[in-house]
Amino acid sequence: MRFSDEFLSEVRDRNDIVDVISPYVDLRVRGSLATGLCPFHNEKTPSFTVYVNTQSYYCFGCGSGGDAITFIKNIENLDYTEAVTMLAERSGLALPADGYDDGVAKMKRRMYDANREAARFFHSCLFTPDGKTGLDYFLSRGLSMETIRHFGLGYAPDKWDGLLRYMKSKGYSEQELVAADLAKKTQKGYIIDTFRNRAMFPIIDVKGSVIAFGGRVLDDSKPKYVNTSDTLVYKKSQGVFALNFAKRGSDKTLILCEGYMDVIAYHQAGFENAVAGLGTAFTPEQAKLISKYAEEVILSYDNDEAGQNATRKAIGILSRTPLRIRVARLQGGKDPDEIIKKYGKDKMRQLLSSAVGDVEFDLQRAQQGFDLQTSDGKVAYLERAVDILSKIRNPIQWDVYASKLSSQLGVSKEAIVIQIEKKSKQRARKETRDNFSNAATFNDEAMKKVNPERAKNLVAAKAEEILIASLLHNPDFYFKIKDKLSEKDFATELNRRIYNVIARHIEQHRPVEITYFASELSDEEIGYLVRLESMREKLGNTVQECLDCIKRMKDERRERETKNPAGMTDDEWFSQFKKQE
Ligand SMILES: [Zn+2]
Repeated sequence: MRFSDEFLSEVRDRNDIVDVISPYVDLRVRGSLATGLCPFHNEKTPSFTVYVNTQSYYCFGCGSGGDAITFIKNIENLDYTEAVTMLAERSGLALPADGYDDGVAKMKRRMYDANREAARFFHSCLFTPDGKTGLDYFLSRGLSMETIRHFGLGYAPDKWDGLLRYMKSKGYSEQELVAADLAKKTQKGYIIDTFRNRAMFPIIDVKGSVIAFGGRVLDDSKPKYVNTSDTLVYKKSQGVFALNFAKRGSDKTLILCEGYMDVIAYHQAGFENAVAGLGTAFTPEQAKLISKYAEEVILSYDNDEAGQNATRKAIGILSRTPLRIRVARLQGGKDPDEIIKKYGKDKMRQLLSSAVGDVEFDLQRAQQGFDLQTSDGKVAYLERAVDILSKIRNPIQWDVYASKLSSQLGVSKEAIVIQIEKKSKQRARKETRDNFSNAATFNDEAMKKVNPERAKNLVAAKAEEILIASLLHNPDFYFKIKDKLSEKDFATELNRRIYNVIARHIEQHRPVEITYFASELSDEEIGYLVRLESMREKLGNTVQECLDCIKRMKDERRERETKNPAGMTDDEWFSQFKKQE
């Protein structure tokens, strides 16, 4: 069966690769990487690597690699269709067969209804004697009754079965409530409410359906927040709080906060474009969702060390989207909630409008450790500043920031620009060097097996690999380089074929990710692609880098073609001959 890109995309979204692999491999997750002992070959030290960001895996020991589908296919010994089917079923997704199974669709509808009913229950509890503590909490945080109603805030009673009883009376089964994570099963087998004695924040998606809840404790006990875990209708990493309200705004700017209360404080003060990620860290999925509704994001995290570090991380994630990024400096309070309470909304508006760009934010942070009254402090700061600015590749911006630094530090602007240029060139050279040397380390049995022509054409092959890796991460570069490259420039058949597959996907506006190449490439080749993709950090990610690769490929081609036929073996001569046809 051929699956559509849309269906595969749904399967991909619903099956996080770490969740899929975890039952088979004991994974150690560190940031966006996870490692473990490879289940496909015998080893004592882990060389099996899972890349969370690209949702792929690669084993540096045996060269196997791919996405969640490839993994299931190989570990369960299934064919492609069976593997997709298994993952679809695992995540409650109906197969797009003739007899469309609407069982899942029905379950989803029930879950939406259950969530809405639960939200109503929690809200109404606020106005009962039992719920007074909840109402008092919101009022003590300065929320008006209107705000409480607007967000549908509520209170989960201090009982084991407060919601449970109510929902059962409305005809929901225990099984349904557990599936929606409104109730859970204890170790002894009892079914109890998931949320007890908590202030409740319903999470509403952009279509207006209640999909989950965040529950906050009313005292200092831990955990401070309990959130709905992933269900059929909700995925934590994709939820954005208050986006249902904020998306209505016309100015295409969203304010991104750390917590629910900040968002609510903003809205109450009239800033209806405030949203927050759910859970602890901001994710690429949330960034993607936000970028559908906005052109600019103003980061408004807490004014402490943790908040500033979270800001840096969020900038890293947001900078991979087309969104413009600015950072609000929250002077005079620890978070937006406190500033609005202390100084009012006009002050907040002023802070937002003077929010700085991401580069400015980096510069301000860099400045913190130095005393600019002393020459030593100035020199040290200038060095850091030049380093930061050399990472941006826009000479006009260099000029703007150099002017600022010049008047701030009393150093000539021209001198600063020259330093930035120098540093930038050094950086670019180093990056290119790293790329080529990094590609050179990919020189093992696995690599030889999948691309047998590689060893004989090492220089060209490395350039081809970087070009392919770069296109996987920056499909938009393709249109800037496609006319500069001919099929004959490829020294290895494998890379030529892969390049053609990628090019075809881009031309047809299809997604450029390994999941969608499965019908055109073998498992081995998919594994090889994941490996190239994993070079990401080491790539310059510039069009120039691609052009450099192409130049190298052409140089190598010229050398190959001028090679004296008399010195060739028959095989070489034939393959040369075939390529020239
Ligand atoms: Zn392996």
